[in-house]
This record gives sequence, C-alpha cells and structure tokens, in this order.
Amino acid sequence: MIVLGVESSCDETGLALYDTQKGLLAHALHSQIAMHQEYGGVVPELASRDHIRRTLPLLEQVFAESGVQREAIDAIAFTQGPGLAGALLVGASFANGLAMALNKPVIGVHHLEGHLLSPLLASNPPSFPFVALLVSGGHTQLMRVDGVGQYTLLGETLDDAAGEAFDKSAKLLGLPYPGGPAISQLAEQGNPDSFQFPRPMMHSKDFQFSFSGLKTAVLTAVKAQPEPLSDTVKADIARGFVDAIVEVLVHKCMKALKETGLQRLVIAGGVGANRQLRNALNTAAARRKYQVFYPELEFCTDNGAMIAFAGAMRLQSDPTLARSEYGFNVNPRWALQGLNTAQG
Ligand code: ATP
Ligand code: MG
Ligand code: FE
Repeated sequence: MIVLGVESSCDETGLALYDTQKGLLAHALHSQIAMHQEYGGVVPELASRDHIRRTLPLLEQVFAESGVQREAIDAIAFTQGPGLAGALLVGASFANGLAMALNKPVIGVHHLEGHLLSPLLASNPPSFPFVALLVSGGHTQLMRVDGVGQYTLLGETLDDAAGEAFDKSAKLLGLPYPGGPAISQLAEQGNPDSFQFPRPMMHSKDFQFSFSGLKTAVLTAVKAQPEPLSDTVKADIARGFVDAIVEVLVHKCMKALKETGLQRLVIAGGVGANRQLRNALNTAAARRKYQVFYPELEFCTDNGAMIAFAGAMRLQSDPTLARSEYGFNVNPRWALQGLNTAQG
C-alpha cells in the first residue's frame, strides 16, 4: 500500500510517500521559520497562505523523486488536527481535492499520532508496548503505547509545553524564534553552577508537568542582571534552564518506566531533537537497562513522512477508516485519546 501524506498543521509544509512494503519512498518539506522569525512567532494567516504556495511544488517533488505515478497511490493521509485552523484547512482541502480527482480514499490523521509513531520510521524501530514522551511545541505528554491506536495518557503538562518553555525562555534571552535549538546550543558554553532554577513538579506523585514557573524563573534571573546581558550570563542562564527542564523530563520518564514495568522508551516531537535531553536520557536508561528510541533528527519536528506513515498504519489496522466522502473537516483541538475508540 502506498500512502501520500500531507502535513500543514503549523509552520511546516510536508509531503511524503510511504510504501508499507518498501518504506519511505520520498519526502519533501518547506519550513516557514524564516518568514515568521521577524514576528518572533508563527503568524497564522501568513502560515495558511504559505501552505497554499508550497503544497503543489512539494507534491510534484515527491512524485518526481520516487518515480511513483499518481494513480499508483492507494490513499491520501492528511493532518486533520490539532493545529492552526487555517493551516489545517489548506492541507485538508488540498488532500481531499486531489483524492477526489484521483478517485482515492482519504484518511484524517492526528498530528500527535504522527509524532508518536515517527520513531517507528527509524532504522532500529521499537516494538510495542512502550512508554512514549511526546515533547513538542504545543504538547508535553507521557503515554503508554500498546499498539497503533492504543494510547493511554499517563500525564501531561498543566500549562506550557516543553517546546514552548524552550521558545519563551530563549526569547527572554534575546534569541530568535524558534528558540529551542538556539538556547540548547548556547547552554553548551554555560556554567552549570551559576544559576539554579526550580524543577517544577519533579517529585509530584503523578506524571503531570508544569513549565510556566520555570519560564518565570528565567525572567526573574534576566531582570536581576544589569542590561545588556553579557554573553557569559546568557550562556549560564541557558545552561541553568536546560539542566532544569531536562532533569524533570528524564525523572518522569524513568518513573513511568518503573511504574508501568515497561522496558522501552520512545521520544517524539521537536524537543526530542535536543542533544542534552538525548544524552541525559541515554545515561539514565543505560543505568537501568532500559532502551530509548528516537525519531531520525529530521523527523522530530513536523514533516509529511510521519503523517504518511501514521495514515498507512491506521489503514493497515482498520481498512474501514478509509473515507471516500470528501470534505474539509479539520479538528484544531483534538485529544489524542479520542482516537482509541476506533481500535477499542
Ligand atoms: P505540536 O506538535 O505540539 O502541535 P509543533 O508541531 O509546533 O507542536 P514540533 O514541530 O514537534 O512542535 O516541535 C517544535 C518545537 O521543538 C519548538 O518549540 C522548538 O523550539 C523545539 N525544538 C526543536 N529543536 C529543538 C532542540 N534541539 N532543542 C530544544 N527544543 C527544540
Ligand atoms: Mg514547526
Ligand atoms: Fe508537531
């Protein structure tokens, strides 16, 4: 089965072709980061307009690269939510229009399921069941995953997402959007002993997170310094921040593995690209003989490959999910757990 995937939930336009027998055939991505940078964050209307410009050329690119004929695909998967309504609508109408023209079925994919299953695209994929930490720009969730569509939420953030905390703290240090990679890089030169930030909810008895206080602690530290901040102080604050957030995430992951009795941990979402997080998780897991799995670096942030893949997995597990009534239904706010009903 060959599935075309279309991702347009936020500021990346991604298209990909996934073959359940041969694997990923081609994928193409356009990131709008440069366009949104001057505004310090994603401008929804600009995002929608840019998705319109990018989808068709990227579609042509994946068909050209793979050598697959349009008629040879079996279905089109598109991100139905959650995300920015206007941006989602572009992908939904594009996918449905194309499906109608080619007379192929469509399947609406949950963006977080795409992230969650993305480590299965790697060369050494984990087998089920596993604990998953989803750390992206909009979400921070710990889940127990027993199979495709079988997701049990263990805990999530009560306020800011991990990626959001990275981005907001980076902004306070004057770094460009998106701040995650920049603050991570800066932290490498920072002194770990200069700033001690709180580890919010690290010892709570549950799997909940809270990161808004950490961002406030960064703000307080910045304000206490004479302006302008020296590069050394910036790096030290960055280091204090990264150490704090990484410690909380690692602690809760280890707790989740211990309490579920599972041996495998899967990391997904943009923050999963973070080097300090990967190093700390690898060390903590190795000590306890757990295995950790990550998506390929390029598939940590938004992309079409994970949508094509999730769509294919869904269709394989339940062919009745393929729809031939075309429409533009999107679901900007959509809980991942709502998906469980399909598989029981
Ligand atoms: P969601 O998937 O929850 O809707 P999103 O699609 O915006 O949100 P992703 O594309 O998964 O999120 O990830 C983007 C986030 O990942 C941003 O907050 C970005 O700063 C963060 N990020 C990317 N690379 C790194 C890194 N190396 N270190 C820390 N954070 C990073
Ligand atoms: Mg993005
Ligand atoms: Fe995402």
